[in-house]
Amino acid sequence: MLTKLSNILNDINTVLLPLACFGCNARLTRGEQLLCTVCRHEIPLTEYDFKEENSVDRIFYGRIKVQKAASFLFYSDVGIVKNLIHHLKYKKQEQIGAFLGTWYGSLLAENNHLKNRIDHVVPVPLHPRKLRKRGYNQVSAFAKGLAQHLECNCLENVLIKTANTRTQTKKNRLGRWFEDRSLYELTDPEILEGKNILLVDDVITTGATMEICAQALSKSKGITIYIASMAVVP
Ligand SMILES: [Zn+2]
Repeated sequence: MLTKLSNILNDINTVLLPLACFGCNARLTRGEQLLCTVCRHEIPLTEYDFKEENSVDRIFYGRIKVQKAASFLFYSDVGIVKNLIHHLKYKKQEQIGAFLGTWYGSLLAENNHLKNRIDHVVPVPLHPRKLRKRGYNQVSAFAKGLAQHLECNCLENVLIKTANTRTQTKKNRLGRWFEDRSLYELTDPEILEGKNILLVDDVITTGATMEICAQALSKSKGITIYIASMAVVP
């Protein structure tokens, strides 16, 4: 009985005060939040600055007109970034999105190449069914964090996902592009006319999702698209 009670108290404590680092699972000490000090220092920042050409820009060359693209972190199959994003997407740790958005947003506001240029931040949407299942869009809090630091609005309902097909991993890039073409739509293209938009997602791998979303955004006249993500697969 006592063991049971102590387990319950432990669980409650873990929910209220997460004690393990999301990067390496080490016990967090007082003052550390979500990531331990070691992980904060070791996390692989891209240091892409929305000025110099970078590997994220190159993903979109010849595919869609993007003014500038960048990612906050380098993604790899093991390690801090994978663990953070896994917890954000599949373990109900929505606060990781806000944490990354605030961190990246403050860096972007500091380097100044994006500040005063963006009118609206637009997160890549989930299909309503997936949103209900997960309970939140894992990109929302990140997008809001960026918008806050760039002193602009986050528009969550202007770009919507209208169909939900499985990723056809066996098909080539071109095949997927045709298949997913009409999956995203604008609810109100006029709001975005002539605006500078920062389109935001979690991880950029092939760039296919961003490409389709940017295609949809391009239906607004005079729109300029910037792209940012939490991480990019190098
Ligand atoms: Zn750690």
